[in-house]
Amino acid sequence: MKFNELKIQKNILRALREAGYEQPTPIQQKAIPPVLAGRDVLGCAQTGTGKTCAFSVPIIQRLCRTEGKSGTVRALILTPTRELALQIYENVCQYARYTSCTCAVIYGGVSQVPQVEAIQRGADILIATPGRLWDLMGQGIVKLGKVECFVLDEADRMLDMGFIHDVTRILDKIPHRKNLGLFSATISREVMDIAWVYQRDAEEIT
Ligand code: AMP
Repeated sequence: MKFNELKIQKNILRALREAGYEQPTPIQQKAIPPVLAGRDVLGCAQTGTGKTCAFSVPIIQRLCRTEGKSGTVRALILTPTRELALQIYENVCQYARYTSCTCAVIYGGVSQVPQVEAIQRGADILIATPGRLWDLMGQGIVKLGKVECFVLDEADRMLDMGFIHDVTRILDKIPHRKNLGLFSATISREVMDIAWVYQRDAEEIT
């Protein structure tokens, strides 16, 4: 299979080609079509399988298609650690480089000033760790009222690290969400609980 068989638009295909991607990995083949169609996805996948591209490419394409004030957060990717947040940010910037989509990354343990400046310059896609996100939401700097797509990455790790409360209160602040992607290396009871409460008719992918 080739990426163009997944109905990915040319400007994103070009970025994938330049990244050296020749063929979609199995998780990309399975997850890209339902995420593009706006469906909820419950994906059992570890780091190294290509899951970042699997959820971010269709999100970039959907944001390019839909009307919306550019620069307001319309997609949120929540991940447990600073390292993962930075890695996802770099990948998303790479895939979106020939589109008008902008992105920003926020995480704790460092000064918030450059992160706030990046958000104020405008970000369609925000990659965040839960604590810093909740903090900036409390300060009125990040607003999630326009978020359409939400991805919970490494959900099991997020729960193991004690972020369950942050995650659910962030989810509860996104009223008009159209799709939720939940990705986890293991689908534990706690991950299933989130899926039951927050997902509708999710496509299950392993
Ligand atoms: P991830 O599982 O998202 O952390 O991706 C693991 C690594 O695989 C990253 O370095 C990606 O750049 C790379 N990658 C993702 N998708 C593909 C692909 N279709 N072909 C080649 N490399 C890929």
